Amino acid sequence: MLAINNLHVTVDGKEILTGLTLNVKPGERVAIMGPNGSGKSTLAFTLMGHPKYVVTAGSVMWSGEDVLALSPDARSRLGMFLSFQYPASINGVTLSNFLRQAMIAHGKRLSLPKFRAALAKEMQTLGVDPAFAERELNVGFSGGEKKRVEILQLAMLQPKIAILDETDSGLDIDAIRVVAEGVNHAHAQNPEMCTIVITHYQRILDYLKPDTVYVLASGKIVKSGGAELITELEKKGYGWITGNLQ
Ligand code: ADP
Ligand code: MG
Repeated sequence: MLAINNLHVTVDGKEILTGLTLNVKPGERVAIMGPNGSGKSTLAFTLMGHPKYVVTAGSVMWSGEDVLALSPDARSRLGMFLSFQYPASINGVTLSNFLRQAMIAHGKRLSLPKFRAALAKEMQTLGVDPAFAERELNVGFSGGEKKRVEILQLAMLQPKIAILDETDSGLDIDAIRVVAEGVNHAHAQNPEMCTIVITHYQRILDYLKPDTVYVLASGKIVKSGGAELITELEKKGYGWITGNLQ
């Protein structure tokens, strides 16, 4: 289980997470919603060990291991994966090479023919043009193509914890469905994966069907519920929950 307890995080001297507690069970799909600036991306970057985010109190444990004591690299090898809003481009590295190196770094070394076959299969499932395998990573890719390629990474790497930070932002309706189906497919292949989906919109959650929905406001979880909470938020906004906090 991923156990985040009373997490306090400061960015440039300002406290952004103010005592966040969240548990995610293996196989659980969690949605995190909340107003702009409430600390959702801060949580994602803190979990991955971004040096800008300073943990001043609290703990993050994964299967008894102290995640906060690990380097970002070690967290990634442990099976933590972050897909975020603005994926980077890498000149000179093809998508295929990038994925092969990433898999080797994660201890998933396949023979080249096996790797190529697995990649071709996942690309087909996700509707990614096979020619993309030999293109430079994200260079000249459209927004939707970058997101599909990220989900391709998710499918190939089979992480233990997948964090998707607004992966659906800026995608058209069809691309949201493709990305969500890709996550569902990755989850079906890797049923123990903890999935944390940060989003503003109901649409991706209609496909992903989270087990639990949390609202983050002013740096902590202020409400939790089932899928019915999404509909309620869509109708009423956040004011009825956060009104007394902001
Ligand atoms: P969310 O993802 O929920 O919209 P963020 O985690 O991005 O929120 O930001 C939470 C708060 O932290 C905001 O008030 C934002 O202005 C502040 N913040 C985020 N990044 C930085 C930074 N690099 N320097 C200073 N403040 C930051
Ligand atoms: Mg954000």
